[in-house]
Amino acid sequence: MIPDPHLATYPFTSDATAYVRDLEIPIPDLLEKHVYARARRRGMDRVIQAIEGGIKSNTEIPPELELLSYPIARMIVSCIDDDYLIRRYALAEAKTVHESLGTEPRDFLIAMGQEFGMHPTPYDQGFTMHFAEYVRYANRMHAPVWKLVNRRLYHGSVLLSMREFRRLLQEAIRDHIQQDLPLAVPPEICDALSRYVDGVRESLGARKTEFEIEGAVEPDAFPPCIAHAIAMLQAGANLPHSARFAATSFLLNIGMDVDGIIRIFGGSPDFDETRTRYQVEHISGSEYTAPGCDTMKTYGNCTGADGLCTRIKHPLNYYRIKRRGQGVVSKA
Ligand code: SF4
Repeated sequence: MIPDPHLATYPFTSDATAYVRDLEIPIPDLLEKHVYARARRRGMDRVIQAIEGGIKSNTEIPPELELLSYPIARMIVSCIDDDYLIRRYALAEAKTVHESLGTEPRDFLIAMGQEFGMHPTPYDQGFTMHFAEYVRYANRMHAPVWKLVNRRLYHGSVLLSMREFRRLLQEAIRDHIQQDLPLAVPPEICDALSRYVDGVRESLGARKTEFEIEGAVEPDAFPPCIAHAIAMLQAGANLPHSARFAATSFLLNIGMDVDGIIRIFGGSPDFDETRTRYQVEHISGSEYTAPGCDTMKTYGNCTGADGLCTRIKHPLNYYRIKRRGQGVVSKA
């Protein structure tokens, strides 16, 4: 019987890892014995649900098997060794945890933050955090409220509500889950898990087909807004974050890989590969779809609209139509 249900809710913590290790379950037993079949099945479901949009809690399975499903899920992800899957899985696990953290007291949040390298200090109803630590996690958020210039500072620290701290903690947990993946899983373990690995591969393939546009990327079919953003980036212009995000998510949605996008952005004179790769990989591993035309207009990123633009509501539709050669394009 598991001593603390928290271990199953937060299976990535050092306490949970130590508990699993102390169980001393031989790996062949975990992979083959009937008594662990539900843990294996749940491990696969964790990954498939991550691909499909979010890991659902499972109250039917005993907490100990729920806890064991976590290392199994990590083994499955590692056997497939796909960058997109790794990022998506880590994000989904962290999002699930974020929901659970909503009911935890402040002391628990502090301890959890400290486990993952954060140093929050209780302040009023929330926390303060040194600005450098804050920026490490907040610079991935797109909403203006997370920008350092929009934050209240107190002696070099940022004031955070409990809700905001939980959101930053989600990012720290995501980093922690992602950083060791893929694990070096021996081929015989992948073979023993092949049934579950195949289930995840199938779901992953379906998901990629859904959001990718088949076929070679055709820059001539890019909508004017995206062509403009790319041209500006390559010219070294200081593009707003919203436009940079729009171009990156558009290129990912049409099937370009991370390295291909980095090559495009590499034309910029102030190109910083490490930073660019980090940003592109973050968008790639999330659920982002390129913003639609209304959002592009709201942020001032709808540039150079032409005749085809009057017939579509999304830059991806522009691309699809133009690529099929059905667009009648003239300058608006
Ligand atoms: S109307 Fe849409 S596709 Fe056309 S330039 Fe504006 S945002 Fe891009």
